[in-house]
Amino acid sequence: MALSSSQKAVLTGAVRGKIRWDAPLSEWTTYRIGGPADALVTLLDVEDLQELLRLCVSQQMRWKLLGWGSNILAADEGYRGIVIVLGDGFKYIGRDRQDDEESTLVKNGAGVSLAKLSSWCGDIGLSGFEFASGIPGTVGGGVVMNAGAWGRSMADVVTGIELVDHEKIEIINEEHLGFSYRTCRALVGRKHSVVTGVTMCFKKADPEQIRETIRTLKEKRQQRQPYGKPTCGSVFKNPEGISAGRLIDEAGLKGLRIGDAEVSTKHANFIENCGKATARDVQALMDEIRNKVLQTSGVDLIPEVQFLS
Ligand SMILES: Cc1cc2nc3c(=O)[nH]c(=O)nc-3n(C[C@H](O)[C@H](O)[C@H](O)COP(=O)(O)OP(=O)(O)OC[C@H]3O[C@@H](n4cnc5c(N)ncnc54)[C@H](O)[C@@H]3O)c2cc1C
Repeated sequence: MALSSSQKAVLTGAVRGKIRWDAPLSEWTTYRIGGPADALVTLLDVEDLQELLRLCVSQQMRWKLLGWGSNILAADEGYRGIVIVLGDGFKYIGRDRQDDEESTLVKNGAGVSLAKLSSWCGDIGLSGFEFASGIPGTVGGGVVMNAGAWGRSMADVVTGIELVDHEKIEIINEEHLGFSYRTCRALVGRKHSVVTGVTMCFKKADPEQIRETIRTLKEKRQQRQPYGKPTCGSVFKNPEGISAGRLIDEAGLKGLRIGDAEVSTKHANFIENCGKATARDVQALMDEIRNKVLQTSGVDLIPEVQFLS
């Protein structure tokens, strides 16, 4: 149900951050797809966030957290409720720094981009986050998805997270996070919580060496993926021991198109929005891929992309 005018009035009075009404989600997702959210709220800080979460409970308003929107397929009808975006107060880097001889522990805001943090690490000589330099997401989204590349993932560097809901702020340490492939199990059952800060451990290393690794990984990524095109990255998770892209390629699906959604000819596990693709086009293409791959290889592909509706 759409937000009522009285809910909108309460929201306006309670939130210090910026509210956009009927905000097109196509402007907030890397797919460039999605109808309007009733309200898209960019929050200032943790206090602002908790105030809004309390309001959502008392007013029975739906909400969903959006990071960079890089792993999201938003519905053509948009979202009935509030889409929350973390603003400036969640974009700090290097807070509460603790150094020892070989490594450094730092806390970073969940709204910081993975690329920005990776390049900061390169500049000050901290190694371990080079893998994330080309992943277009936020630190918070990276934790939820256990984002990874080149054999490494957030699980290798995260030592704890700060989690906020309408009544408390909790710290969850690494032994309770339960990272596995593209999942952080501790967060699966906590749909009403927001990751606000993430503590990570990096090794000290030569800055030039780190920057060189970042440059090499970026080049590899540009060669192998449809870089710069509107996509959500990998659409399906890799099944155990095999790449989803390979299964899709072997099923002969590269270039398959529904509406303006097309299986990338460069990397079969990417679906490109070639212009005016709708969520329905992408969803129909995903269904087609799943059916064909099931027929040709017996493998049922599981979506990695998250649906916002
Ligand atoms: C070109 C391209 C390349 C990509 N390459 C890779 C890759 O190499 N490896 C990889 O793992 N992924 C890759 N991705 C996918 C995507 O970048 C990652 O999944 C990323 O971690 C998503 O982060 P985000 O901030 O964009 O989260 P979003 O896509 O906005 O959200 C993803 C999920 O996390 C939740 N969420 C986000 N932030 C928070 C928070 N602070 N608290 C609670 N919940 C939150 C959202 O509600 C949603 O359920 C790629 C995507 C693109 C477009």
